[in-house]
Amino acid sequence: MAKFRKIGILSSGGDAPGMNAAIRAVARRALSQGIEVVGILGGYAGLIGAADEANPEHIKRHMLRPLDSSSVSNIVTRGGTILYSSRCPEFKTQEGMEKAIKVCHDHQIDAIVALGGDGTFRGATDLTNHGIPSIGIPCTIDNDITATDQTIGFDTALNNACSMIDKLRDTAESHARCLVTEVMGNGCGYLSLYLGIATGSIALAIPEIPFDKEYAIQKIDQARKAGKRGMIAIISEGMPKVNGMEYGEALAKEISARTIVDSRFNKLGHIIRGGDPTLRDRLTATQMGVEAVNLLLEGKSNMVMAILENRVTAVDINFALVLDKMYKNKLKDGDLEGFTDYQLAQMRARCEYRNAKFKRLYDLSYDICI
Ligand code: ADP
Repeated sequence: MAKFRKIGILSSGGDAPGMNAAIRAVARRALSQGIEVVGILGGYAGLIGAADEANPEHIKRHMLRPLDSSSVSNIVTRGGTILYSSRCPEFKTQEGMEKAIKVCHDHQIDAIVALGGDGTFRGATDLTNHGIPSIGIPCTIDNDITATDQTIGFDTALNNACSMIDKLRDTAESHARCLVTEVMGNGCGYLSLYLGIATGSIALAIPEIPFDKEYAIQKIDQARKAGKRGMIAIISEGMPKVNGMEYGEALAKEISARTIVDSRFNKLGHIIRGGDPTLRDRLTATQMGVEAVNLLLEGKSNMVMAILENRVTAVDINFALVLDKMYKNKLKDGDLEGFTDYQLAQMRARCEYRNAKFKRLYDLSYDICI
């Protein structure tokens, strides 16, 4: 079993409900094994910041907060992240990395668990390559990490958005309107796809699948003529702008102009990212947090936790990052070098699985949501 004096935990990039449950699980599991735990405040910026600060009390309060069991009491139910988050471009530089490694050495931080998305995992890989074994936990409401079926925060954001869209439907029904509603997703249509089905939206536009706008407009017009009053059209963030206008705003204007239905644009925005995490997110976060520490104790690192076939598992970070690029058609020359044929076949199969799942659900929404 690997020996660690102290494990650092940080949350970085976009926050997600359930991060606190993961922080608690990592801390409690490490403490139970006699390992000290430190919360690195503000993501990688906190780690680097400690290099430039001389006052140990200031470091303790604002950068490297020692965590005991009671420090993580009562946070399993809370959204956001008690460790705060940030984006830290300096961490990508050689100088920034050297500062981070020095802080780890000076403060006996022997390993790091990093909560976030793909940018955060790139940072975790760099740390591992510089001698600080690190494990990533996928936390993002967008569910846009290809290596896992579920990210922490996705389920909470879905439930938040679902209840908000249900409320929009009440007012849409009263005024016989079509409320075109944009949902976050960072270019990934997962949230919108699930919400489109679950809220019974009449139209659904996501970046992954061509949107038949003419068909949608016809459908809205015909539905109103047949007596339907309230309608919801869901638009995923990441759809291309139209003459400088948000896609959803342009669509609402077009619906109003070309049909008998009055249409308005709504944007749910960051509100779906807050609030108490759902049971599912708490459970996944807890399982992943415990397992991340177990992996470190087994001497493993440079892995990202994942849910595959309903089981908590872990995937090599480099594999996960390249898989992500493959899925998002962002591969560059040389990205596939160093992977075995078996790994490449695994990546392709994973992309096909995910594409097929999208297509299946989209087709289903087409038939059902009228
Ligand atoms: P997310 O983790 O949600 O994808 P970002 O992409 O903003 O969010 O990344 C979070 C942070 O991770 C960045 O601010 C930076 O500190 C670090 N990071 C991102 N990309 C890299 C990289 N290529 N190398 C090292 N660190 C990185």
